Amino acid sequence: MIIMKTDATREQIGRVMKEIKQYRLKADVSKGAYRTVIGLVGDETKVDFAHFATLPGVKEAMMVETPYKLINREYNKLSETGEPRFVVKVGNIEIGGDEPIYMAGPCAVESKEQLFRIAEGVKKAGAHILRGGIFKPRTSVHSFQGLGAGGQEEAREALSWLRDAGNRFEMPVVTEVRGETQVDLVAEYVDILQIGARNMYDQDLLTKVANTGKPVLYKRHFGAGIEEFLSFAEYIAAEGNKNIILCERGILPVGKGKSYTRYTLDLSAVPAIQKETYLPVMVDPSHAAGRRDLIFSMSCAAIAAGACGLMIEVHYNPAEALVDGQQMITPDELKDTIDACNRVHSVIGTKRNKD
Ligand code: PEP
Ligand code: MN
Repeated sequence: MIIMKTDATREQIGRVMKEIKQYRLKADVSKGAYRTVIGLVGDETKVDFAHFATLPGVKEAMMVETPYKLINREYNKLSETGEPRFVVKVGNIEIGGDEPIYMAGPCAVESKEQLFRIAEGVKKAGAHILRGGIFKPRTSVHSFQGLGAGGQEEAREALSWLRDAGNRFEMPVVTEVRGETQVDLVAEYVDILQIGARNMYDQDLLTKVANTGKPVLYKRHFGAGIEEFLSFAEYIAAEGNKNIILCERGILPVGKGKSYTRYTLDLSAVPAIQKETYLPVMVDPSHAAGRRDLIFSMSCAAIAAGACGLMIEVHYNPAEALVDGQQMITPDELKDTIDACNRVHSVIGTKRNKD
């Protein structure tokens, strides 16, 4: 839609109309008492609205249609009966199905022993999917970057531990890919590829990951709005891969002084995103809170908000973890958390989106 200024001339309106025609779109002109508004009829997604906004006489130019049609709930009837749910299947696990799915494991894979011990613990606690970082996004170049930073052989070895731990304890596995060069290697070993918050905007990475055909755990950037998050998720779907699991993991806190949490868990994003898209939405309370004493309550709250599952960082001895020890919980605490979340879920039920 293009809104003209109140003093826009006939020539200026004419120029806008001419440019609209170049896109082979129809222009629906309504002349009000004060201004002219031009509606674009047809597929607006290829239109450069920023350019229209610079034309003389134009007050505002904006897309009315959604920029994320492929993953949009409204545009996609998922079955003949209009079933509103879309499930990402990983082995026999259904993400977005009837039961909440719990992904758990260490922030970073540190050794085979550490990983296997945690994998056994999270499995016993009720987790379905094993996580473990091998390429870690870190603020400081001097801190532990994950075993993957040691080179191709070290990365391959750590990935094979993750695969073996998953097989041994019967859990699919997920790990983050931080760059395009890691994608093929990681895809050889894991069931789900994670795109971390910091890489939410990396179009080339999204495209490359999508083309592996594997499910993608896609995390929201801490500064991204929901429309932006979904618009970038569309890059994955545009490659023909709709097995996308969205993950809310906290946005930047506001105000001066201590926020007392690492980020602010945006739980309203869960039902808000579910209204917009059919994709399953998970919550990561660990990176959002950044404190182990908040994980239990934020997990329950996330399930109450309708999240289809959680990703939680776990260590048998958080104090000895090389990364994110302050937010890790133990396998026993994970069990309490999962049990409570399942109780919450049995009361709330699986949220179905209704207007
Ligand atoms: C992670 O899950 O390991 C991680 C680094 O999370 P985020 O990208 O959300 O910060
Ligand atoms: Mn972490």
